[in-house]
Amino acid sequence: MFQNQDHPKLKQDSIRSNLRVDCENCFGLCCVALAFAASVDFAIGKDIGKACPNLEEDFRCGIHKNLRQEGFNGCTVFDCFGAGQKVSQVTFGGVDWHEDPDTAKKMFDVFPIMQQLHEMLWYLTEALTLKASQPIHEEISILLDETERLTGLSPDSLLELDVPAHRAAVNALLLKTSELVRTESHLREKGSKKREKFDRRGADLIGSKLKGADIRGANLRGAYLIAADLRDADLRSADLIGADFRDADLSGADLTGSIFLTQVQINAAKGDAQTKLPDSLSRPAHWFTFKSF
Ligand code: SF4
Repeated sequence: MFQNQDHPKLKQDSIRSNLRVDCENCFGLCCVALAFAASVDFAIGKDIGKACPNLEEDFRCGIHKNLRQEGFNGCTVFDCFGAGQKVSQVTFGGVDWHEDPDTAKKMFDVFPIMQQLHEMLWYLTEALTLKASQPIHEEISILLDETERLTGLSPDSLLELDVPAHRAAVNALLLKTSELVRTESHLREKGSKKREKFDRRGADLIGSKLKGADIRGANLRGAYLIAADLRDADLRSADLIGADFRDADLSGADLTGSIFLTQVQINAAKGDAQTKLPDSLSRPAHWFTFKSF
């Protein structure tokens, strides 16, 4: 029996409240610590540790309201999962890199590590609330607690962390979760029209024509769905972790019950008022100015 604070949904709410972006409490870390190259996503390129010229003294973005029009689409689809405010206010105690240039490099190096840990927390909290993954909830809960503990380490300890090893342990549990969810979906549909298991993990599906496709319970982990036509597709119970939906058309598609889908993926796609999303995600404003082809 769960104690109140151990209840999966309560635990998810409590952890996720710290995983939402809070730029007001961040020292513009994503605009300084990360590199980007001039491309269709960024009007200019810049190196790691160099402040973007659009970043103002108070750490606000000078073109925040016009990022897409100014050629900075890439900024609109980045999510630090709350790592920015954690590093700024907790790990470095609210001392910004202007005030303390000596620690600036350390802060910029810690940021991507924290971003990865927070991203893992996001997925683990989702895995913990799924009914199909109940047989492994205890394992998930233990790893979730451990990941949360790591986010509270000192800057030096964070820099020494073996992030790939921890990510591999998390990924193994997310894979088990995925298998349980998708198997349940296939069993649930047993007796209805027979469906082929759609397994396209990491596949190149760029520009593919999947309009109206029944791909419930599909494995689309890390699939490249850039500019794919997914209008009216049924993606319920599909594993969408890391799938690249840039410019994919999700108009009328049903993504309810899909797993490991994030707001960033949705922000990168096109959609409309008929697109059905999981409860935790919202319709991006730019969908209402986009017309499906
Ligand atoms: S354009 Fe704005 S949001 Fe993007 S990196 Fe520069 S300051 Fe940050």
